[in-house]
Amino acid sequence: MNIILEARNIRYRYPQSLEAIKGISFHIRRGEKIALVGPNGAGKSTLLQMFNGMIRPDSGTMLFDKEPIRYDTSSLRQLRKRVGYVLQNPDRQIIAPTVYQDVAFGPANLGYDEQAIQQAVALALRRVGLKGFERRPPHQLSGGEKKRVALAGVLAMDPDMLVFDEPTTGLDPSGSEDVMELLDELNHEGKTVIISTHDVELAYPWADRAILLLDGRILQEGVPDVAFGNPDYVRMAHLSVPTLLEVSQELGRRGFAQPERKPRSVLDMIHIIEHLLNRSCSTSRPGTISVCDVDRGWDTPLATWVSARQNLAVGAMGTSAKQRASQEHLTLDFTYGVIDKCILRALRGQDSLILTNSSMAGRVVTRVEAYCQESGTAISVIPLNTTNQSPK
Ligand code: ADP
Repeated sequence: MNIILEARNIRYRYPQSLEAIKGISFHIRRGEKIALVGPNGAGKSTLLQMFNGMIRPDSGTMLFDKEPIRYDTSSLRQLRKRVGYVLQNPDRQIIAPTVYQDVAFGPANLGYDEQAIQQAVALALRRVGLKGFERRPPHQLSGGEKKRVALAGVLAMDPDMLVFDEPTTGLDPSGSEDVMELLDELNHEGKTVIISTHDVELAYPWADRAILLLDGRILQEGVPDVAFGNPDYVRMAHLSVPTLLEVSQELGRRGFAQPERKPRSVLDMIHIIEHLLNRSCSTSRPGTISVCDVDRGWDTPLATWVSARQNLAVGAMGTSAKQRASQEHLTLDFTYGVIDKCILRALRGQDSLILTNSSMAGRVVTRVEAYCQESGTAISVIPLNTTNQSPK
């Protein structure tokens, strides 16, 4: 098991205050997406701040990459290069007068030369979709953009692990989806991602594992349907059972057999309902899903290609795909949960186009194939530009 972070019976009390962390042990594997979930005051922020050494436990041990964290200045500097921490409130993290200077702060602190700083900043801003924002004063940006600047500041140091305290606080639903999708993309590229949240609907489909925290202790830990599946624990933690899981539990209570793998998406739920109805809700001829890899060249304007097809929905996965859509003035129907939404359309006999980057293109094929195998449906995935060619 490739463990990147481990807590061994850690405890912490703020000066002149009650104990905030009361003996917590857990481990996180490299490449996992973890949601730390609990009500206000549960200890989420305190715990997260231990991951990059900002808070030192009074007792117990925090280990990063199998080594106990050391708290001297030089060790902490090394640790903070590898563990990027994004605060809940970006106004507390963003300190410089321009976006460029703010994102450059970390690499400059690590002693990068000017050229390396420029490269790191350019890459990080592109990563979060803020290319062109270099000279902007951060205080003039929207809440979502500020969160992205704070994230870029961390990404500029190319950390192995991202720790994001309440990534969606203060964002509207579409801004929240954008940030979660970006975290998904970064995870897909190999980064371990840990978030804190009290939004169970957000954590349930997103996380590989969830840790439920209450009053400085772990209440429950596991894959999301286990972590959120016990109504008593969920109630104790002032949370609610995710809607999809609740519907599945209710069907089970009414005597309808439920699959072992609990529904994590509307697509999963539709599959269960079809099974119960003993008939398929799909049309006899499923629609197709075309995939355009925006990292590969094309000459044909995509908008032209799209407008030549009737009733086609377009989804984009990843920052570069969304940017490409915006450059080409292409209206996006889906920007989150794109693959499942396109499968649902295909089941209704409708076609879709997914714009994606090279690293996520394979994911479309894998997900659609897995669905088809499980459901016995045949949905065609059509790669438009597998060889550096334009979609015709
Ligand atoms: P969460 O992030 O889950 O809302 P916190 O980690 O912020 O929880 O807080 C855990 C506990 O520690 C709470 O009881 C809170 O009042 C207390 N606490 C947090 N920060 C401080 C602080 N700076 N000084 C004293 N107590 C604090």
